[in-house]
Amino acid sequence: MLKEKISQFVTILSFSIFLFFVLLNPANAYAKKLKVITTSTDLKSIAEYIGGNKVKVESIAKGYANPHHVDPKPSFMLKLNKADLFIRIGLDMELWSQLLIDGARNSRIRFGAPGHVVASVGVDIQRVIQAGAMVDRSMGDIHISGNPHYWLDPLNGKIIAQNILDGLKRISPENTEYFDENKRLFDKEIDTRMTQWIGKMKPYFGTKVVAYHITWPNFSKRFGINVVDYVELKPGIAPSPAHIAALIKRMKAEGIKIIIRGPFYENKIPTFIASKTGASVLTLPTSVEGVNGVKDYFGLFDYIIDNLISTFTEQGINPND
Ligand SMILES: [Zn+2]
Repeated sequence: MLKEKISQFVTILSFSIFLFFVLLNPANAYAKKLKVITTSTDLKSIAEYIGGNKVKVESIAKGYANPHHVDPKPSFMLKLNKADLFIRIGLDMELWSQLLIDGARNSRIRFGAPGHVVASVGVDIQRVIQAGAMVDRSMGDIHISGNPHYWLDPLNGKIIAQNILDGLKRISPENTEYFDENKRLFDKEIDTRMTQWIGKMKPYFGTKVVAYHITWPNFSKRFGINVVDYVELKPGIAPSPAHIAALIKRMKAEGIKIIIRGPFYENKIPTFIASKTGASVLTLPTSVEGVNGVKDYFGLFDYIIDNLISTFTEQGINPND
């Protein structure tokens, strides 16, 4: 009997404590948050910054997976069905997402609806065509409509954040001031860090590298690395033996000592090329959560820049200022 009383008392006490915290802290997890689904972890990171405690954000693609070829899991149709906001990169990056959007049957997040954000609006899209690339998608080529890896320039991050801000304000106008303030802080943080990032990279402006895929036109334009060739024969197309041989010849002739690859590309061919040229293969994340320790959009650039510089140093590439 006494035991039962104590147990009842404990239950009531626990519930009271629970209620106390909920009432005390209405902005916590029990308040209704806007459900945001992004296609990528970079968009997720920026949306979390702008949306703050008003949003719950989930990314469809993992940061360490190849963003061009995402397996559209049906579980995301259910999540999109309940989503308030859908944010995507745009261009030809997420052709895989249309199936999910169609299946989600949520008119609020369809293209043209207030809850649909295309993050590339207003971005100066690079129209770099890789030498030898076919201007015909039927050949398996990708990125003919402009390069979709534009988030790898932090200044484009500000434009992405603006598009996300506009979307959040459309669906939740009552939080306009809060979102605006977060955007102001985001821009300020980008500006502060840009000065540091550029300062670190400046001595290496013009350093020639080879990349696996045409991922880096925006990054290289901003930070001065010179991507002169690619392991892929064309974007999305594996290299031929002739291409590999020509690449080795060029790297030797021009003293190119760095091959950059995303974590989701095979490593056999880069390693082979490195063994013939004395180059280093540098695996760089192309998205937030692409490797351990890269937790947000700012951390992505910290990681890329610090690892580029340490590999330059290992290879004896000296600052040229
Ligand atoms: Zn690509």
